[in-house]
Amino acid sequence: MLDKVLIANRGEIALRILRACKELGIKTVAVHSKADRELMHVRLADEAVCIGPASSAQSYLNIPALISAAEVTDSSAIHPGYGFLSENANFAEQVERSGFVFVGPRAETIRMMGDKVSAISAMKKAGVPTVPGSDGPLPEDNDDAILATAKRIGYPVIIKAAAGGGGRGMRVVHSEGSLLSSVSVTRNEANAAFGDGTLYMEKFLENPRHVEVQVLADGQGNAIHLYDRDCSLQRRHQKVLEEAPAPHLDPKARADVLQACVDACNEINYRGAGTFEFLYENGEFFFIEMNTRVQVEHPVSEMVTGVDIVKEQLRIASGLPLSITQDDVQLNGHAFECRINAEDSRTFMPSPGKIDLYHAPGGLGVRMDSHIYTGYSVPPHYDSLLGKLITWGASRETALTRMRNALDELLVEGIKTNIDLQKDLVRDSAFMQGGVNIHYLEKKLGLT
Ligand code: ADP
Repeated sequence: MLDKVLIANRGEIALRILRACKELGIKTVAVHSKADRELMHVRLADEAVCIGPASSAQSYLNIPALISAAEVTDSSAIHPGYGFLSENANFAEQVERSGFVFVGPRAETIRMMGDKVSAISAMKKAGVPTVPGSDGPLPEDNDDAILATAKRIGYPVIIKAAAGGGGRGMRVVHSEGSLLSSVSVTRNEANAAFGDGTLYMEKFLENPRHVEVQVLADGQGNAIHLYDRDCSLQRRHQKVLEEAPAPHLDPKARADVLQACVDACNEINYRGAGTFEFLYENGEFFFIEMNTRVQVEHPVSEMVTGVDIVKEQLRIASGLPLSITQDDVQLNGHAFECRINAEDSRTFMPSPGKIDLYHAPGGLGVRMDSHIYTGYSVPPHYDSLLGKLITWGASRETALTRMRNALDELLVEGIKTNIDLQKDLVRDSAFMQGGVNIHYLEKKLGLT
């Protein structure tokens, strides 16, 4: 087992990683910016190192500072969490070259999945269903070929940047008349934003759900899935409320896609935790991308399978095989996760500041993954996630009832939060039925 892990992140996920390390008897190093001295995991870690000023670029994204911190503390590994450098292949490479273990996949896997064109082609090869689309990148100097590709796929189509991410670098085209101009605008944007103008084209699915599959693979020939999650409730491509398992899926399509994800892990010799993201429409799955890291919404899968995903990540990074086989993974009950953000419920503007009162809900089947406490000041420099409220129940209904009650118990005073929005959502009749699509939340909020 690893001896000492440096946690290259902040907030709730840093605390989550710290807890897993402690359970495994691994020593911990917290790194933090000057604005983050008061973070909960900084108090609890065995050692703490300040890596720079408040700005993320100079702290949590500062590769030399992170590697120096690992050196001075004699750490054995670096866990990147999610966001920040978690999907940065160069970081993974530099960590390993400096003699530390990167808790995640090999740099080449991260690189392949970071380029959506190569990710899709690897998935196609492995038998994972993908969205009908262009065969590889769109040519730069052949308008006729682009027009023909769109005609073959059928309008509407979506033009996407191979290097895109976070919902940026995409444009929907409804008819032939605007295709070429849209391609050229998207190419310019992609060049400016990502330094890479490579584009591809997909069929634009009108009313899909977002369904994803959690996998774990040890890079030693063992890969398993931990079933699926539904993350369709999104605002501006940001997930708001997630659940596991995804309700009302076609059983055959679901069984096939779960197996296809496991096969794909074996095919690419995947190592670590990962998520295959799909759009699901009319009983069919369409792969859109793979995330090569632990995700914000991983707890819902933990609650319904009993598998500790972060502990498995640490075991895999230690060179150990998975502690469980597919047969050990039994789907049990249902779980929801509400993301609790420091933001205005109506304008969604971030709301940093001091928390005058925090009271976490409790009871059977209630889990609060959060780093906040009464008196803690939410700094303005980072994302607005205060924590995640997760509930489990033997049935979807019980889990949802527990979420309603838990949200009523949750108190965060002094700053604005989205708790009222979440209270509203868990009482929404369409959501209560299950299976709403990715446009549902924005429509409900009157944003589209
Ligand atoms: P990013 O890496 O920027 O998150 P994704 O490829 O995961 O990009 O797509 C982000 C979102 O864009 C999806 O969750 C979905 O809402 C929408 N989207 C992407 N591809 C399609 C498509 N082919 N049809 C319809 N919507 C799509």
